Amino acid sequence: MEQILANSKAQPLLIVNTEGEIKQSSDGFSQIFFPVQTGEAVSSYIHPEDRAEFKTWFNNLNTQQFRAGQVKNLRLIDQKGMILSVMVRPEQTPDQTYILWFWEDKRVRETEDYWQSALTPAMEAVLTSILDGVFLVNVEGKLVEVNPALCQMLGYHKFELIGMSVGMLFSRDEKESQKATSRFARIIKFNRVKEMNITLEDRSGNKLDVTYNGAIIREGSQLVGILGIVRDNRDSKIMRDLHQKTEDLENAMVQLAARDKMKDDFLSLVGHELRTPLANILGYAEFLDEGNVKEGERKEFIGVIYQESRRLARLVNEILDLSRLEAGRLIYHHVLQPLDPVLLEAVDAVRAEAEQKRVRISKNLGAGPELWIDRDRIKQVAINLLINAVKYSNSETETKISSKELDGGIMVAVEDQGMGIALENLEKVFEKFSRVESLEHHTQGAGLGLPIAKKIIEEGHSGRMWLESQGLGKGSTFFFWIPKQVKNAG
Ligand code: ADP
Repeated sequence: MEQILANSKAQPLLIVNTEGEIKQSSDGFSQIFFPVQTGEAVSSYIHPEDRAEFKTWFNNLNTQQFRAGQVKNLRLIDQKGMILSVMVRPEQTPDQTYILWFWEDKRVRETEDYWQSALTPAMEAVLTSILDGVFLVNVEGKLVEVNPALCQMLGYHKFELIGMSVGMLFSRDEKESQKATSRFARIIKFNRVKEMNITLEDRSGNKLDVTYNGAIIREGSQLVGILGIVRDNRDSKIMRDLHQKTEDLENAMVQLAARDKMKDDFLSLVGHELRTPLANILGYAEFLDEGNVKEGERKEFIGVIYQESRRLARLVNEILDLSRLEAGRLIYHHVLQPLDPVLLEAVDAVRAEAEQKRVRISKNLGAGPELWIDRDRIKQVAINLLINAVKYSNSETETKISSKELDGGIMVAVEDQGMGIALENLEKVFEKFSRVESLEHHTQGAGLGLPIAKKIIEEGHSGRMWLESQGLGKGSTFFFWIPKQVKNAG
């Protein structure tokens, strides 16, 4: 053995007995690393964090079949606290001692140099401001940097974490921690850093579900470590919910503002619709009151007053109907009866207006089965459709009303050759208040007739109401369909 030492003076090596006590050290060891005391345990020169691992490795040399060339990476530490990463290779001698050959782990030294230069104040400022937990791990699996968010998440002080094995973030139990570290090493080895859900353990042993994402850090072709980012799933779920709720609220606000505007517009329209007939009624009543009116004019003025009063009454009725429909307070009186007579009455009711405008109304009504209907309400719907057809048509055109059996019910169509409806407004005409801005043609009326008609058909008679138009200027056809055998609740 003296021979070995003599030959290898310049080599850094220690001769230890099976207990791990230093028997001799080479000159090379004290020159390259630091001087050691013979008789001391070799483990006292090993970094406290690597000590347990070293002891296990050393005991295995003792007990297991000895395998020469089994190299171990560890860190030495001298009395002044200087840390050196080394590799050690054991060799068994015939007289029950081991020669431990050391050499500096250049690879680690290089990557440590890398970290020293990489962790600039700017980098630290970035890490400090990130709200997710961030850690940097060197190739040995030790934490070289952690950010405040990670410390807060796990309840550690930064200095407790730096230098620790990354496995400690996963478990404080030594075995578990080692397993986690090697899992981490595998992740690094196979470059498999992708988003995944993992569980960390905080300082008090509480489990914490996080989403992990990471990146391999290389300098040139050399792997120097990995960057890990963890997001507390509870936080992110709360944040996600919060974002969602905020978004919903914002949308609701936008919708409310739009509805608010619609109501404002509607109110000013209704104001106008009420004021115009009232002004006419008042004006013509005053003429009559003054007395010096010719007989022909008298008739005309009374006609205007009568017509404007009807217009007023219709508007007031529409507003009342709509508010009753909305509140579910509109009472229906369903009676089993044929539909066509009701449609005929509606045609009669609009005849005067149609003649005045010179719009011809033709009928194509089939007998059809009896239906459970509220006669007055269905008549109201048919009148509304016919009046619209006349109102939105030019003179000398034709409006057709037809009925036929279809799909277990009766379908009614009111077709005109009028100004038609733009495709994008086909649904809008059935929305209350919506006519105000979006519809191109407006004569008289508050845009309530169709929304009311649709509710009467669909809610009051379990039917359907829809409309077809080839576009502006191409006429429109309004349809409604009522099923038979349905006796709706009154
Ligand atoms: P209004 O009292 O304004 O006529 P309605 O609810 O009956 O209210 O109709 C809503 C809107 O739908 C009308 O203002 C008009 O723009 C459009 N409309 C209704 N019927 C027709 C039709 N037959 N042809 C063209 N446009 C129509």
